[in-house]
Amino acid sequence: MIDFSLSSQQKALLETARDFAAREIRPVAVEYDRDGTYPEEICKKAHQLGLMYTNIPKAYGGTGMSFVEHYLVTEAMNYECCAIAQVIGISHLATGALMIGATEEQKKKFIGKMTESYRSACFCLTEPEAGSDAGVMKTTAEKKGDRYIVNGLKCYITNGVYADLLCLFATIDKSKGTKGICCFAVPRDTPGISVGRIEDKMGHRAMNVAELIFDNVELTKENLIGGEGQGFKLAMMALDRGRANITAVSTGIAQKALDEAAKYANTRVQFGQPIGNFQGVSFLLADMNALTMASRAMYLQVGWMLDNNIRCSTEAALAKLFASDAAMKVTTDAVQIMAGSGYMKGAVVEKLMRDAKLTQIFEGTNQINRMVAGRGILGKTCTLF
Ligand SMILES: Cc1cc2nc3c(=O)[nH]c(=O)nc-3n(C[C@H](O)[C@H](O)[C@H](O)COP(=O)(O)OP(=O)(O)OC[C@H]3O[C@@H](n4cnc5c(N)ncnc54)[C@H](O)[C@@H]3O)c2cc1C
Repeated sequence: MIDFSLSSQQKALLETARDFAAREIRPVAVEYDRDGTYPEEICKKAHQLGLMYTNIPKAYGGTGMSFVEHYLVTEAMNYECCAIAQVIGISHLATGALMIGATEEQKKKFIGKMTESYRSACFCLTEPEAGSDAGVMKTTAEKKGDRYIVNGLKCYITNGVYADLLCLFATIDKSKGTKGICCFAVPRDTPGISVGRIEDKMGHRAMNVAELIFDNVELTKENLIGGEGQGFKLAMMALDRGRANITAVSTGIAQKALDEAAKYANTRVQFGQPIGNFQGVSFLLADMNALTMASRAMYLQVGWMLDNNIRCSTEAALAKLFASDAAMKVTTDAVQIMAGSGYMKGAVVEKLMRDAKLTQIFEGTNQINRMVAGRGILGKTCTLF
């Protein structure tokens, strides 16, 4: 019943991703991290190879991969640098909401236009006073006849400076709570949108994160995705896919840290022998490998569930919290094994440890994912077998 083998086409896809990441991302990863360089040229090359809109159906200009394939490619790309790889894959959350809620006409218009040349999107949910509790957002979409006038501020928006399309969440009626929230597809050149503070971050430094300000931005029904009041539900459904994606991102980070640490343990000699011969080091490596393997199995399971239209909010939350905690532990242990040489700036594992931290924070902190999973377990929505 369970088959982990890949078809020749899937192997070729994965090879393309690995080869691209090794050739284009690996040589610049440390430099782009140091300088916070936005990887635009790398993204353009990824777009030409079909590595940018991997999960979008061919009908809308994407590569048309299944979720399982998309997450395998995500791990392969994130293995070399999660910041650069996530800029390449950044549109998946925004387009995820559109793929779930948009009409055929809207998909062709907004997603089709984005994929036809190198363009990207961003997902605008978080606000200064609405982080984990996104439902209390203050950004309003005031109804005036057949128009919506949007005012407010979104913060920590990945790709906020560069996105051509914004997937924006705003409320038409605060008294309705989450049922007043709407989702809008907003082209970047719509008047009234400006960039606020651009963040300087601990990790993921090649990935741009900024505030976006909305000042009397005029939208119409053509921008509204999924009907009035459907926005919060669409955001949560898109986040199920996003959390599976972060599971694959975390797996890529962990695998790289494990490989670097194992290489070092084989070659670093102390007390007359390679340090990998000491049980204190080899047991660490064994635990690191177990966590990485389990993380991979979790994104494959959630990917399979998404491919088969099986509800997976609980499993996606569990996978995300497990794999991101695993990535944090594996990268910290990789620094421990490499000790002084792993702790210094410019060491790959030093960067991986800083990068891993974000996976525990975004797309729902791990406390929030435990809450989501806890509710699912109590409500018995964990249903695979
Ligand atoms: C680099 C980066 C990129 C991001 N990109 C995006 C993006 O593209 N789009 C977007 O919309 N958002 C984005 N975010 C925002 C991100 O999703 C939020 O930071 C996250 O949801 C947490 O919100 P907060 O930072 O306001 O923390 P808070 O919600 O203030 O939480 C603070 C602490 O309290 C804990 N906490 C809160 N409520 C509970 C509870 N009920 N039970 C237990 N613990 C709780 C949290 O887990 C956390 O530890 C990004 C964030 C970062 C750092």
